[in-house]
Amino acid sequence: MSSTPLDRVVAGFADRFGHRPDGVWSAPGRVNLIGEHTDYNEGFVLPFAIDQRTYVALALRPDRRARVASEGFDEDAEISLDDLGPTSVSGWSAYPLGTAWALGRVGGDLREVAGFDAYFVSEVPTGAGLSSSAALECSLAVALNDSWKLGLDGTTLVRAAQLAENEVVGAPTGILDQSASLLTERDAALFLDCRDATSRNVPLGLEDAGLGVLVIDTRVTHAHAGGGYASRRASCEAAASALGVSALRDVAVADLDAARAVLDDETFRRARHIVTENQRVLDTVEVLGTTGATGIGELLVASHASMRDDFEISVPELDLAVTTAMDAGAIGARMTGGGFGGSAIALVRTEVADEIGDRVTRAFAEHGFTPPRIFTVTPSAGARREQEQHSR
Ligand code: ADP
Ligand code: MG
Repeated sequence: MSSTPLDRVVAGFADRFGHRPDGVWSAPGRVNLIGEHTDYNEGFVLPFAIDQRTYVALALRPDRRARVASEGFDEDAEISLDDLGPTSVSGWSAYPLGTAWALGRVGGDLREVAGFDAYFVSEVPTGAGLSSSAALECSLAVALNDSWKLGLDGTTLVRAAQLAENEVVGAPTGILDQSASLLTERDAALFLDCRDATSRNVPLGLEDAGLGVLVIDTRVTHAHAGGGYASRRASCEAAASALGVSALRDVAVADLDAARAVLDDETFRRARHIVTENQRVLDTVEVLGTTGATGIGELLVASHASMRDDFEISVPELDLAVTTAMDAGAIGARMTGGGFGGSAIALVRTEVADEIGDRVTRAFAEHGFTPPRIFTVTPSAGARREQEQHSR
């Protein structure tokens, strides 16, 4: 009846491996507050880490074996550190074992390090757009960085986790998810420049303002999401090249009128989303520093409209979630993540959060949509070592 994930990860480790872990580390999932599809255009994003985390209990071994197991996932994996490589691991273990391998690629010296046993317990739902994959990678990245005494900084760990996802798992993702999971502070969002990977924490002050964030997981997944992503990316590259810049990051809102003359209508609208979205991220950071979070509602709503009308990556369920939340009194709402399904977020006053959630659930029922999964997230601290448990 161990209930907390911390208890479960320690107990699960002992069950699986027959000894006690050296320690427990954790890394959070994330929600992107604003800045969608701007990452691969070398622009700005503003994610925050959520209170759902992935925990890893880990112990070093006297030999060079690496063993990983995860609560609720069938296949345990085992390999020698000497055999680790981009093609030597598969299935879910490609994320953690890929991360172990990648630490050696970003500057860690793994020639003499000890093998390890690692057991994972996660509260981050998979495939809901909350980046369970980054939470998994980043929890192990901090655990091994400490245990192996590699001394790598957060930005370097971001690169290792990204390398694991790109080269080992084979998913062409940027640095947004891993940066959010590793670098974000409590009650803050991470203002990240995807051109040079510099970042800084921007206080959100949600608790003081009596605000919360609802995640509305539409549970819609579209088979063509991958194709849609690739075609949007291609449009952005075509626009940048027609406008003579290396990335749409270099186009300002004031340049858009001139761009309209050069681009066909569809490509122009794709570019306009990126250019205005970059500006909205900058504006959001500014408003957070002056008025505070109560002032960012219009920017969130404008971001959603831009994704719906210009970038065309929304779906009816996401639009309904946003309009219903706004009608029910949300301060702002938008779809979040890559689009074609997934989740919307709504910034709400805590005392009306449940009521807004109920209104959205009812609207989905009235439209004959699959019931959404709705829950609150709290902006939380990035990856860390957990307190030692001395309970027995
Ligand atoms: P997400 O948006 O949640 O990151 P991804 O498709 O990128 O979705 O990653 C989900 C995959 O990550 C799962 O299918 C699984 O392979 C792996 N994964 C995530 N969390 C865990 C976990 N706790 N244990 C094992 N594998 C996990
Ligand atoms: Mg992922």
